[in-house]
Amino acid sequence: MKQTQAVGIDLGTTYSCIAWLNEHGHPVTIPNQEGELATPSVVFFDDNEPIVGTEALRNAIARPERVVQNAKRHMGDPERFWRIDANRYNPVQISGLILRKLIAAAQDQVGEINEAVVTVPAQFSDAQRHATVTAGHSAGLEKVEVINEPVAAALCHVLGNEGLAFTELAIDQQLLVYDLGGGTLDLAIVSYSSDQVRVVASDGDLELGGLDWTQVLVDIAAERFLSDFKEDPRQDPHSHQFLALEAEQAKRSLSVRPRAAVTVQHEGNRRTYQIEQEEFEHLGRSLLKRSNAITRRILADNGFGWAHVDVVLTTGGSSRMPMVRESLRKLSGRTLNSSLSPDQSIAHGAAYYAGMLLANQEYTRTIFNSQASTRLAQIKQQSVNARGLGILIRDAETGNRVPHYLIPPNTPLPASVTHVFGTVVDQQTKVHIRIVESGAGPGKPHTILGDCDITDLPTNLPEGSEVEVMISYDGQARVHVSARELKSGRSAETEIIRQENMSGQLQQEVEDVIQVAPPAQPVKVPRPGKAAARDRVEASPSPTTKTALSDEWAVVSARLSELSELSDSVDHAEQPVLLCNSCGTALSPKGKCPACDAAPKKRKQRAGVKKKAVQRTSPPKSSAAGTAPAKRKRKKTPTREAAGKSTNKQRSSEDDFWDLVD
Ligand code: ADP
Ligand code: MG
Repeated sequence: MKQTQAVGIDLGTTYSCIAWLNEHGHPVTIPNQEGELATPSVVFFDDNEPIVGTEALRNAIARPERVVQNAKRHMGDPERFWRIDANRYNPVQISGLILRKLIAAAQDQVGEINEAVVTVPAQFSDAQRHATVTAGHSAGLEKVEVINEPVAAALCHVLGNEGLAFTELAIDQQLLVYDLGGGTLDLAIVSYSSDQVRVVASDGDLELGGLDWTQVLVDIAAERFLSDFKEDPRQDPHSHQFLALEAEQAKRSLSVRPRAAVTVQHEGNRRTYQIEQEEFEHLGRSLLKRSNAITRRILADNGFGWAHVDVVLTTGGSSRMPMVRESLRKLSGRTLNSSLSPDQSIAHGAAYYAGMLLANQEYTRTIFNSQASTRLAQIKQQSVNARGLGILIRDAETGNRVPHYLIPPNTPLPASVTHVFGTVVDQQTKVHIRIVESGAGPGKPHTILGDCDITDLPTNLPEGSEVEVMISYDGQARVHVSARELKSGRSAETEIIRQENMSGQLQQEVEDVIQVAPPAQPVKVPRPGKAAARDRVEASPSPTTKTALSDEWAVVSARLSELSELSDSVDHAEQPVLLCNSCGTALSPKGKCPACDAAPKKRKQRAGVKKKAVQRTSPPKSSAAGTAPAKRKRKKTPTREAAGKSTNKQRSSEDDFWDLVD
């Protein structure tokens, strides 16, 4: 039996933090080797020896081409990598190095660590969750679980505030968790009662965070410098990096002072500019608007008004900015609860979750005292998926593939959907399905999660044979697929071939050809097809390398197209037809059944025969994830009785006003 600890890691875009639960079940942040509680998520390759943290950040000015920052913004993107000398690093490898640093320091202090819970933004796709788990494995962890960041914050609030002495929570409350970090905004509506923390809905923006506010200051100072010296410091990596660090410091100062200084140095010139908080707030307005729109959206989309929110809980380093706090206070019409540590609460929540997962295991009592292990075993958490999950189906008219979503966003997890497909040719032995998730918000393109090959079908199937496919999300919104041929009842082999693996082959070919080292900017490997050559030329570091590269690139480009055509032809022949679960008729591109829509009454009768399409899957016994099915109906305004039980319900006519606005 392996000894382990309950460890939670907040793998942030800008800062990362690791915590463990001590024997009393209290989360404790573990400092890194430099004694810091939060480690900058920055890697510096010093002659290929990776250095992580503050020391890496320091080198960002002198040697920006050897420093990688903000890798989390590219997590799950198979086309992103940074090239340092002859080596190429993708976001998973960079994240793995950051995790390794945190874990190494923690092991020195608390003993061997074989497993951990790593936090992810709620909006992360399956591919991004998968990439995070892979990063954990590459850092030497045997087992990696993920938890959504706002859920971790909610656990920290519930167990930290109310559960220190592990007393029972007396009330049911609805929290709105607002987590504004360095790279992302994460929101969740969380409902909690005595032993259950249940996410009702989550939303957010993967491209809105403190970095964007820092950029506002960079732009203000750079524009002033440009007008004074006719030179733009953003054009030079060294000057730009120097300015970015200055702006970061100034941003923090502006959280406590009315003005701050930003020094710009570029091409032998140096000047310091004073920036007023008012100007910063004025130029940051569009960012606040985005944040407010998402906050309104999560409530409106889920039938909530402000009157249904008992506590607005803020966390994330950027929630320290007065303009953010003021804007949220005005929007919600209530006092914000800022009791959580913006820097440590997510890691602490993850450590609680790690403790909950360990609480059912036999050796728990060797790491927690009995009071702690009893309480951790009692608490249950349940999350929802942030994105819709479905498949690509072919539009018969245009020939284009369009997404057809089978599990909508904000379905309680775990969840599964079963759908019937028809084979397209006689004796088809293999079915090929492309699985998609909706984008990280309205208007954002869907992402192809991977291809699923269902092989091993009986050899004598006639055209139109029915294959039932079950696609499911587990408790942590990771995707699984299983399939069954209906006539024989035989299960078929299934495997999701993920995007990163599909493009791995392409990248290898690219790797074989490109020998010239570009700067340590994220470099995009072009998608197969026409854009390839053009993209590559844009990424070329200097005119001298362009000619050589374009010749080589023509070779890569041709090969990429070849591979792409090959995979398309396989796809076409084996792509099944989506059938109506009720009557077996082929569905339209929009997933509508022409037969059932024409005869809605009949459909109703038939629908009773088949199972409900989306269903919650029973949680595995050993897991703490998943409890009772969630109600997703609009919640009525709390009754007087319920309000009477609440400790901090301050209802006013303002609440009702916001209700009406929603
Ligand atoms: P992440 O986990 O995404 O890296 P964190 O929650 O650790 O994010 O927050 C880091 C962000 O918070 C950075 O963008 C940092 O600039 C910002 N931040 C930290 N302290 C302050 C402050 N006092 N004022 C304004 N921004 C801050
Ligand atoms: Mg963080």
